[in-house]
Amino acid sequence: MQSVAYDLHLHSCLSPCGDMDMTPNNIVNMAMLNELDVIALTDHNTCKNCPAILEAAAGGPVLVIPGMELCTVEEIHVVCLFASLAAAMEFDAYVASRQPFVANDEAIFGKQAICDGQDNITGVWDNLLVNASEISIMEIAELMQRFDGVAFPAHIDKSAYSVMASLGDIPPECGFACAEVARPEKLPQLEALSEVIPTLKILTDSDAHYLWDIGTRAHFLHVREKTARGVLESLRRGKLAD
Ligand SMILES: [Zn+2]
Ligand SMILES: [Zn+2]
Repeated sequence: MQSVAYDLHLHSCLSPCGDMDMTPNNIVNMAMLNELDVIALTDHNTCKNCPAILEAAAGGPVLVIPGMELCTVEEIHVVCLFASLAAAMEFDAYVASRQPFVANDEAIFGKQAICDGQDNITGVWDNLLVNASEISIMEIAELMQRFDGVAFPAHIDKSAYSVMASLGDIPPECGFACAEVARPEKLPQLEALSEVIPTLKILTDSDAHYLWDIGTRAHFLHVREKTARGVLESLRRGKLAD
């Protein structure tokens, strides 16, 4: 077992709310400066900058896990991480097929830029990515099995786009082993409201939309190996991996 410093919730310039400086190479280089071992790229409802960031990180010290921050039909944000780029891109296509088309107005929401491994902008995604998909949180356990992924509810302490705000608790049927809390000091309050939360491994990520918000060596996971599969296995085990 080894301890790895993680930040598993980051947005790139493909998220409309993500800063244009959040390019694949800038994110990887900032993670390196911050001495993180593992990061995940989790843009809203898309994995389309994952090929570029995996290319940017190849051969370097930072492990990048391909992922997505899915917005469910209940308007709950759920971080989904995948064992391989191929699995992430299959999930990406599936989510795109279950997302209603609403043209992105760049003047209001910002640009949704797709990059290559050298940070060149190679395309712009025109369907507004921050809208809710048609996927229910109750489907996620089955989807993660199908696409070889792991999911955890994002920022459960927030009053918007969180499972606690939308449903009042985490449904046990979702089978989550982890949950993300943006401000760990809120945890006792949340645990008092829920029978599920005390059983989960609590993660804290930066949810960075700007380079300077990317996390530092503050939060650790215990993994058997520093690979995407090793991290996913640790997340599936939840509290048992500690
Ligand atoms: Zn979110
Ligand atoms: Zn986010």
